[in-house]
Amino acid sequence: MTQNRIPLTIIGGYLGAGKTTLINRLLRRNEGRRLAVIVNDFGRINIDAELIESRDGNTINLANGCICCTLGGDLAMTLLNLTESANPPDHVIIEASGVADPAQVAQYGHMPGLRLDGVIVLADAEMVRQKARDKYVGEQVRQQLRAADVLLLNKVDLATPASRRVVRDWLAEQVPGARIVETVQGNAPLPLLLGEEGARPFTPGEWKETAVPPATKYRHDLAYETWSWEGREPVQEAAFRAFVEQFPAGVIRGKGILHLAGEPTRRAIFQLVGQRWSLKPGEPWGDTPPQSRLALIGLPGSLDSARLAAAFERMAGIE
Ligand SMILES: [Zn+2]
Repeated sequence: MTQNRIPLTIIGGYLGAGKTTLINRLLRRNEGRRLAVIVNDFGRINIDAELIESRDGNTINLANGCICCTLGGDLAMTLLNLTESANPPDHVIIEASGVADPAQVAQYGHMPGLRLDGVIVLADAEMVRQKARDKYVGEQVRQQLRAADVLLLNKVDLATPASRRVVRDWLAEQVPGARIVETVQGNAPLPLLLGEEGARPFTPGEWKETAVPPATKYRHDLAYETWSWEGREPVQEAAFRAFVEQFPAGVIRGKGILHLAGEPTRRAIFQLVGQRWSLKPGEPWGDTPPQSRLALIGLPGSLDSARLAAAFERMAGIE
């Protein structure tokens, strides 16, 4: 009976750990497997879904809530549609939002027609220990790590060899059962990520004994603030860079697809993780009308919507 069940892989990890990059890598190197990817962003606009290089349209977008605590019904319905479709995928991947608890999401791997293949959690080599100690988000980060079967210690190229060793030892202590693999841009071997080597043995009901935290009324999406902006007018790059430099310290994650005044033919991709941010050229707009979309995630009280919106509209010359 396990042969008929579709393997389900959960990809988790805190905001900015590199989940979208890992999924793009999987989609590029799928070795003929038909992958269905479910992407969850708890903000109003789902930029991740747009940053995923969908090859065959099989990317499903669940936005505006957290799949582990508010969008559970939508997730169950989506999974049911996949398993019962006339042409089911070979493997289903769920990219949990950066605030979700992967262990909660993993429970859906016991739905009829599915088999939990494994939980992959990414950790940012440079930032994970600091985040795990943080008084606001530390417990959430540690809980995410504990859910892992495979832990990808990602972005090791940004860490010194000494700090890599320290963080690796620390992770091994935090999550004794997990396999730890050092990666750059999620470059782990495919058999480790999808089935084969990394797969959990299938045992019905196994999940009841795992360290799934008791269901609570806690809502991850309410523990953070989100702010988003969309506009068609081109944005001045210098003004945008100056704007980002002035973000308040409580801004944890930012991502965006920008229509820059100096770059009319292609997208610019904005990524911010803590103090680190980048603005890089993206895909050409092609037939798509250029439009900027930006989303920020911050601790409560860190995002002054009126001020942010005014700043953005100034940059885009809308006054
Ligand atoms: Zn949640």
